[in-house]
Amino acid sequence: MNIPASPIIPPLDLGRQYQDLQAEINAAVLAVLASTQYIGGPVVAQFEEDFAHYTNTPFCISCNSGTDALYLALRAFDIGPGDEVITSPFSFIATAEVISMVGATPVFVDIVPQTFNLDPQQVERAITARTRAIIPVHLFGLPAQMDQLLAIAKAHQLPIIEDCAQATGATWQDPSGCTHKVGSIGEIGCFSFYPSKNLGGCGDGGAITTHNPALAEKMRILRDHGRRSGYFHEAVGMNSRLDSLQAAILGVKLPYLDRWNHQRHAVAQRYSQLLDQIPGIILPQLAPNSVWNQYTIRVQHRDELDSASPRRDRLRAALLEQGIQSMVYYPLPLHRQPVYANLNYALGQLPGADRAALEVLSLPMFPELSEQEQERVKEAIKEALQHI
Ligand SMILES: *Cc1c(COP(=O)(O)O)cnc(C)c1O
Repeated sequence: MNIPASPIIPPLDLGRQYQDLQAEINAAVLAVLASTQYIGGPVVAQFEEDFAHYTNTPFCISCNSGTDALYLALRAFDIGPGDEVITSPFSFIATAEVISMVGATPVFVDIVPQTFNLDPQQVERAITARTRAIIPVHLFGLPAQMDQLLAIAKAHQLPIIEDCAQATGATWQDPSGCTHKVGSIGEIGCFSFYPSKNLGGCGDGGAITTHNPALAEKMRILRDHGRRSGYFHEAVGMNSRLDSLQAAILGVKLPYLDRWNHQRHAVAQRYSQLLDQIPGIILPQLAPNSVWNQYTIRVQHRDELDSASPRRDRLRAALLEQGIQSMVYYPLPLHRQPVYANLNYALGQLPGADRAALEVLSLPMFPELSEQEQERVKEAIKEALQHI
């Protein structure tokens, strides 16, 4: 094994955040343990209220994961067999998986290369009589092109379910200049509190936000075995409750989220300065409204030279030798995953997603990443690109 000369730079370092908040988190956890209210109760109710307030939506329903949040959203619209839901092929599997879980069919449309987000024009062309919803993903922390998507959804009377898993705290500006938190723009917003997300718990967790009281009530019932209370069940629901320990931890962290998102932005800005003008890589747009769950560069793929392996993979390996751990989100787009072979998408049908999968490389990104570490990342990239 190669022993790197310098300390490892991980893709994210949850330890630094925990160290900063250790006393507060430990106290909140111990209070829940002593309360013996482990499922539901005031701590969960308080977090739902705080998160609704934070996202500026009247209703927040906490649940067990971001995946469940998306699943519950589809169930709230009674989407099922025979229905189609339009979404991005360049996302985590959960976005499409939930569409299949309710028995509907995911319809993948291509992304805009510069943003990695859904291309609204292609969304419009993919709408059929069977389309029941659109799920844009605010990938890597950058809100999707919501103005165009909202217009299309309105024209076709389709609900938008936002996949906010990677964008907690991001804002989007409407054409009139008003800003909206993601999760408050479409009919339903779906959040993940997986540890690596911008607001992450110490385990699984998720939340749904909405302005619509009827949808909120339905999802609240579905989340807890299809019941309002007691042992009377009016729908086939599930067990997807957020537990009190996670709610307590998330409640401690929520007040810090904006600060962390600012720090992420500063990290992104520094990367963009440091890596500017390095040939062979393309930097992400420095959008002021991204919350930078990832800082994802493209390592340009040259069809004629890189057929054996993407140049991106060689850069990744070279960085690893220097102790720098980068990630590939995502190496295979959803439309070409084995699980969706039955949908018969061909290579080249969604060229934007196919190319992104060959080129993307997410650099270490977390609020506490130091300037010194970022210098090292830059030097390693510059050096490697000269010989790979
Ligand atoms: C993490 C993630 C999810 C799923 O969230 P879990 O809490 O892990 O179930 C869904 N969509 C996207 C885009 C994600 O990044």
